Amino acid sequence: MIEIGTATHPLPHADAKYILLAKQKVLTLDGEFLLSLYDFHPSSDMRSVYCGTFEDQDIFVCRFSQAPKGFDESGLRELLFETSDYYYGLLSRAHQLATWDADHQYCGRCGEPLTTKHAKEHAKICAHCNIRHYPRISPCIIVSVRKDDQLLLARPLTAPEGRFSNIAGFVEAGETLEQAVHREVYEEVGIRVKNIRYIDSQPWSFPHQLMMGFFAEYESGELTPAPDEIAEAGWWRYDDLPNTPNATSISGQLILAHVKALAESNI
Ligand SMILES: [Zn+2]
Repeated sequence: MIEIGTATHPLPHADAKYILLAKQKVLTLDGEFLLSLYDFHPSSDMRSVYCGTFEDQDIFVCRFSQAPKGFDESGLRELLFETSDYYYGLLSRAHQLATWDADHQYCGRCGEPLTTKHAKEHAKICAHCNIRHYPRISPCIIVSVRKDDQLLLARPLTAPEGRFSNIAGFVEAGETLEQAVHREVYEEVGIRVKNIRYIDSQPWSFPHQLMMGFFAEYESGELTPAPDEIAEAGWWRYDDLPNTPNATSISGQLILAHVKALAESNI
């Protein structure tokens, strides 16, 4: 597991490990993405951010504007979901910090370049107006809804044919997580839910969400998919589900946990 806390943020050094990114790709050598400083040549267009320690080694993430020659390129999504979940937190954190670093090169308040990093935390301090800019984390809810022995599954317009998942969406300003669950379910499929229960969370670095997973129960209404978001939605008996996300994602974990709970309840 990635250890986040540290007394001071070190500068890149020869004993550290490096995760190299170029655009939306992770660079690998012989299938490995944790590389040594000797595996690549630090260049002037490379930006690096300290991530924490992993297996007692300092980890840095470095983003290149163009991938250097000699590396293979893997999609972040493929690495996160098709390799061991042992690396999930490390890769998610590295990608989120690199995104923050790339997206916060200038102060959002006064427009001055942000060059001063805090020594002990991930914060950039504007030398002109003194505001601190932290990595952006966007809270989202994801909810598995049951109705008797059935689960609600929906296919967003962006998902391939036959691929179903839970209802999910961003938490709005001023909203509680529970209010976000009620609103998102109603907006996306037109039903009311009750008995909302928190289950688990997962960082989701596409680019900086924190997914918070819930169970809920159907209360009232007819399924009415929002035409601008949902291609189709329906109820599936828990032991006869369509194609759903794999268990590395919180969406897949919620569905599996709900299926298990329904199977054990003997309904
Ligand atoms: Zn400023």
